[in-house]
Amino acid sequence: MRKKLELMYRRLYAAFGPQHWWPGETPFEVAVGAILTQNTNWSNVEKAIANLKNAGVLDPSALHGMSHEALAALIRPAGYFNTKAKRLKNFIAFLINEYRGRMSGMKKEDLPALRKKLLSVNGIGPETADSIILYAVEKPVFVIDAYTKRVLSRHTILEHEGSYDTYQTFFHSTLKSDVGLFNEYHALFVRLAKTHCRTKPFCSGCPLEGM
Ligand code: SF4
Repeated sequence: MRKKLELMYRRLYAAFGPQHWWPGETPFEVAVGAILTQNTNWSNVEKAIANLKNAGVLDPSALHGMSHEALAALIRPAGYFNTKAKRLKNFIAFLINEYRGRMSGMKKEDLPALRKKLLSVNGIGPETADSIILYAVEKPVFVIDAYTKRVLSRHTILEHEGSYDTYQTFFHSTLKSDVGLFNEYHALFVRLAKTHCRTKPFCSGCPLEGM
């Protein structure tokens, strides 16, 4: 199975090239983006992040000091803005309490301990926690999403109903643990799902056709 997963990766990379994930100027911006992107597309997140930058508040202490209402208004373009404002506030309180507001402190944490702590933050689920760990903190964890499940299940590698942990364990036990590989592979799955492996798949000409 390792060879198959590696071949899939090579084909996707050859077809699409590097995806340069995750867009963001700082680890904190990446973490904020990972929370805002829940249930919306990236262009909406970009507008919300631009609002935070233009208001000069895209840092932990400034956001921590803002009212819920002010924060919700700035991130309105990302949708579900009241819920997301609460989640952002929860994450920032966690960052300040656990790591004195520093993403570099988070990076020093042992990966399993960090993941466990992130998952204890209200509103941070496995996909968001792992996106923060991989793309903001640069530790090797494979991010699973609906697109990953769609592609693997259509190729009868795992059942679509498999749990998040089942999918993640499969990647972790099959591929070498490598931040760069996990970063690029997940991004390539997203690209694949947007171009070919859509709700109705366009297999003709797909890089994974015939696999
Ligand atoms: S579009 Fe078809 S060939 Fe491509 S990944 Fe999806 S199911 Fe596989």
